[in-house]
Amino acid sequence: MAFRRVTLFRFFGYKVKADASWFFLAVLISWTMSSKVYPHILTGQSQNAYQWMGVLTVVGILFSIIMHEVAHAIIAEYYQMRISNITLFIFGGVAEMEGELSHPRGEFMMAVAGPAMSALVGLFFQAAAQLYILYYHADALSVVLKTLGLLNLEIAAFNIVPAFPLDGGRALRAIVWHYKNNLVTATRIASASGAAFAYLLMGYSCYNLIVLNDMVAGIWWGILGFLVHASGTSAVQQMETRALLGAEPVARFMHNNIVTVSPDLSVSDLVDNYINRHYQRVFPVVDGGLLVGVVSLSSVLSLDRAKWNWLHVASVMEPLSAHFVVAPDASAADALEIMQRYGREMMLVSEKGRLSGAITFRDLASFLSISIKIDSDRPVKTGRVAR
Ligand SMILES: [Zn+2]
Repeated sequence: MAFRRVTLFRFFGYKVKADASWFFLAVLISWTMSSKVYPHILTGQSQNAYQWMGVLTVVGILFSIIMHEVAHAIIAEYYQMRISNITLFIFGGVAEMEGELSHPRGEFMMAVAGPAMSALVGLFFQAAAQLYILYYHADALSVVLKTLGLLNLEIAAFNIVPAFPLDGGRALRAIVWHYKNNLVTATRIASASGAAFAYLLMGYSCYNLIVLNDMVAGIWWGILGFLVHASGTSAVQQMETRALLGAEPVARFMHNNIVTVSPDLSVSDLVDNYINRHYQRVFPVVDGGLLVGVVSLSSVLSLDRAKWNWLHVASVMEPLSAHFVVAPDASAADALEIMQRYGREMMLVSEKGRLSGAITFRDLASFLSISIKIDSDRPVKTGRVAR
């Protein structure tokens, strides 16, 4: 999702970030609870009291989602997987994992830790509500506690459904991975169950819309079904890309017929003699045999044309960075991920400061589309997965 993320605070050493969509959701939940839900459960309260109940519920849900994600993160860390931060999205949270999946056991434990924590938090809220009623009396606070308890039990139940990419689906994938010793097959099987569940959710959405005439429930279940389906599909694609490219080094896809330019070339020379003559949008800048930067058609076009005659490549080139320079023995899958993330068409391959060649997004993509048809079931031991 392309929303801005804001860091809220640190919790157990993890940075808790919120996607802008979460603020929208927080307001929506608070409003729904205080105007639609609580007035029916507990009558005779003031408008002000209902509003406070709504706000308290949102704070409780925030706490609940963070506890769920922290449980994933702590178990991940126990199995030597690094968690960078926890981001709250419109549908809950994501503990973002850096690096590789370790092994089926770690993945299984990490997956079930979240729902287990939600169940615990749910029971804790339920118990707190009971104790509060026992020692004080049933009022607005006990209703909020009970609601939070119920919500957490629902979060646990929904997430443990064995449908990838839900936690239960990840646990299922880990089990298949363990028995088949193949992460790609395991991901495919788990995501098939995810797709089936997604269709079930969409069917239930139609049932709500058409038979029960309940718009809100219909839209809610429909979006949920759509999201489960979409994220499952992208996880499988990512896994297949890793499986096919993972072992291949960048050098296998490298061209070395790339045209280079010198830093003291004028921009008008670059346009007339290079850009207009060679089918290249990006030129490596080489000085005394060493790669020093890269100049692209887009950076030239962003200049004032009057300056083309007296500006030199050195003053318009981008300096070297890991966004577009890669070593020949680096993994092609990593290079592809960088190109996708930064919208690059190509990356320069360089060894010990010298330009060896270039790899292009197009070549990698066509390699993938061919190999996927020929052989898409090679076993892989590792894969990078966003959770
Ligand atoms: Zn989870």
